[in-house]
Amino acid sequence: RSPLAPRMARVRPSPTAAISDTVRALAARGIPVINLGEGELDFDTPAPIKAAGIAAIERGETKYTAVAGTAALKAAIAAKFRDDNGLAYAADEIIAGSGAKQLIFNALLATVSDGDEVIVPAPYWVSYPDMVALCDGTPVIVPCRAEAGWKLTPETLADAITPRTRWLILNSPNNPTGAVYSEDEIAALTAVLRDHPHVLVMADDIYEHVRHDTGFATPAAVAPDLKDRTLTVNGVSKAYSMTGWRIGYAGGPAWLIAAMTTLQSQSTSNPSSVSQAATIAALEGSRGFMNDWLARLKTRRQIVLDMVDATDGLTCDTPEGAFYAFVGCGGLIGRRTPAGRILADDLGVATYLLEEAHVAMIHGAAFGASPNLRIAYAVDDAQLAEACRRIAAACGRLQ
Ligand code: PLP
Repeated sequence: RSPLAPRMARVRPSPTAAISDTVRALAARGIPVINLGEGELDFDTPAPIKAAGIAAIERGETKYTAVAGTAALKAAIAAKFRDDNGLAYAADEIIAGSGAKQLIFNALLATVSDGDEVIVPAPYWVSYPDMVALCDGTPVIVPCRAEAGWKLTPETLADAITPRTRWLILNSPNNPTGAVYSEDEIAALTAVLRDHPHVLVMADDIYEHVRHDTGFATPAAVAPDLKDRTLTVNGVSKAYSMTGWRIGYAGGPAWLIAAMTTLQSQSTSNPSSVSQAATIAALEGSRGFMNDWLARLKTRRQIVLDMVDATDGLTCDTPEGAFYAFVGCGGLIGRRTPAGRILADDLGVATYLLEEAHVAMIHGAAFGASPNLRIAYAVDDAQLAEACRRIAAACGRLQ
């Protein structure tokens, strides 16, 4: 008998592992790879936030806190939800955890059991289906089309709902497509959910602040009558470039927050006390720095879009948010590399560009949508421009 629990057979190794292995092998040979695979901004955490973390250490805030976060942090989160989203959450309707990732996992673990279905629109963030599977549930992958802006439509949502549906997971701005749902689009989806009171709604709003020329809407605010079955998940990783601090937070019905708190109390306990203090500074401080960040991201987005426009075989509509371009590479499938290999699928394209152009990207299959490549434009302009030059040149060498 395998020493591993049967549930491990339901989780796939990271779909990005194949690319990462090649990156490491190239690095070991001294070949510098430009990594456009990481979903992490290169910007530094703003100085006042770092200072708040240091001050917390010096004040001795280095001990356990309340499992779901300190009262001060919960107050800052409540104010954020109120001011940014028009959402009123009481202290027992708020939880902070070690990243949005932990909160999403705990919410699923608390609610999903054998055979329960979770609707995951594709392209999706890589972790959703595997988290559902770890919780003994069945991910129901609903494909969304580039022509529909990579967004779930009310019709496809209605078709996907069954009596076993536990959750719909919505992620806007979206990783990997950058798609942002408008208020009207969310209203149309929540109108469908109104007829299915057994379906919970997970709003993954982690990229809320990373948007260009578009508004932001979240289901619990658009459809207040659904608020008592909606979990609004957010965090500081992306908005404040705080990925390593590991703080996410969520607002939702007290019964769900209590269950998530119980799971957290028996697994990881409170998120880092130091990071909680820094998060208060982030949430309560000015977001003035973000204008500069967004301007820089917009420039980078243009560098990628210009390259795609100029490269035969690649296509991409302008992503409205996050820091990803989900680039169609169907035009390259079937072409022959200088070494004589035929590009059979998007993993083949990503592997070719890694080996030939020394640029790492994640292939669309990892996000449930092929043939595509996700380009994370989270590296500085000069590196990005160089990466784009190399991608275009390598594509030009295909026959
Ligand atoms: N949700 C999405 C869509 C993400 O892309 C990520 C990180 O890549 C997360 C959640 C997790 O964020 P955190 O760092 O808060 O765990």
